[in-house]
Amino acid sequence: MIVDRQGRRFRNLRVSLTAACNYACTYCVPDGKRLVAAQDELPGEALAKGVAYLIEAAGIERLRITGGEPLISPRLDGFLAAIAGLGLQDVALTTNGQLLSRKLPRLQEAGIRRLNVSLDTLDASAFRRIARGGDLATVLEGMRQASAAGMRIKVNMVPMRGQNLDQVLPLLDYCLEHGYELRFIELMRMGHLARDSNAFLQQFVSLEQLLALIGQAHSYQQASAPMDATALRYQVAGKGHFGVIANESVPFCRTCSRLRLSSTGWLHGCLSSGNRHFVGDLLGKPRHEALPALQRLLVKALGDKQELAFSGGVTVMKVIGG
Ligand code: SAM
Repeated sequence: MIVDRQGRRFRNLRVSLTAACNYACTYCVPDGKRLVAAQDELPGEALAKGVAYLIEAAGIERLRITGGEPLISPRLDGFLAAIAGLGLQDVALTTNGQLLSRKLPRLQEAGIRRLNVSLDTLDASAFRRIARGGDLATVLEGMRQASAAGMRIKVNMVPMRGQNLDQVLPLLDYCLEHGYELRFIELMRMGHLARDSNAFLQQFVSLEQLLALIGQAHSYQQASAPMDATALRYQVAGKGHFGVIANESVPFCRTCSRLRLSSTGWLHGCLSSGNRHFVGDLLGKPRHEALPALQRLLVKALGDKQELAFSGGVTVMKVIGG
C-alpha cells in the first residue's frame, strides 16, 4: 500500500467519463461556452481497466463517476458494464440531473444507489443564469424519480454572494422535506476563479457566514462523520441532515484520500496541484507490466497532495472530474 508521511493513502477514486457538459456553470467555466469532449478521451472499457488496476495498485475502495456531465457520455454504458464485478464497496455518481429520468434504469441495473445532484437554486431564472443550460423542473423530476426508486440523494449547492445566497434556506427546506441531504460546497479557487481573486472574494461565502444564515431558521448540531470525510455534517433536529464542504474555512487536506482519473487518462493526486501523471498508455498493457509502473506514478501523485490547506488550481473542475 502506498502511504505518505501523514498516513494518507488513496481510497476514493473519481473518474471523469468526459469533459463535456450540457451546462456552463458560472463558477466552472468563465465565458459560458458549452464544454465539449476532449478529442483523446478513452473508451469506457479502458477507463474501467484503469479502475481495476488502481484497486490493486492503490487500494481503491470507493468510486465516484463524474465529469463534465457523466450522463451525456457515450462511454457510460460500456464503463458501467466493465466495472461490474470489480468488488468495489461503493459506486456513486455526480450529475446535474438533466438526463436522470432517462438514465435511471441503467444506473439501477449497474447497482448505483447513491447520487449527488448539483443544484444551486430553486428559482428558474437564477437557475438559467447560473447553469447556463438545462431546465430546473427536469432536474427536480429526475430527483423525485430516483428517490422513489430507492436512490439516496445528496444535493450539491455552491452558495455565492450576489447569485444564490437567498436560496440557501429554500433549498435546505426543500431537501429536508424530500429526504435529500443538502451539501453546501464552499466556492473553490479553481479555473478562472484561481486567476481572478476579486471575482472569487466577491462571491465567496464562508462556513461561518453560511451557518449564521441557517441558524436564523433552524437549530442544528454538528453530527459525526467518517475520518476521511470531506464534509462537516449537521443535524437539524427531527428533520434531517445537511453538510458543508468547507475547503477554505476548514481544510481537509490532512485526511484527503482522493485520487482522480481524467477522461483522457491522467491521474491527479490533488486539486491544488498542477501536476498530473499519464496512465492512458498503461491501460493497454498486461497487469504485470502495468502495475509496477502505475505504482511509481501513484507515489508521485500522493506526493502532490497539499500538506495543510487547499490553495486553488487553474485546472477547470470539469476536466479533472468535480
Ligand atoms: N456535471 C456534474 C454535476 O453537475 O454535478 C459533475 C461535474 S461538476 C464539475 C461537479 C461539482 O463540482 C458540482 O457539484 C459543482 O458544484 C462543483 N464545482 C465546480 N467548480 C466549482 C468551484 N469553482 N467551486 C465549488 N464547486 C465547484
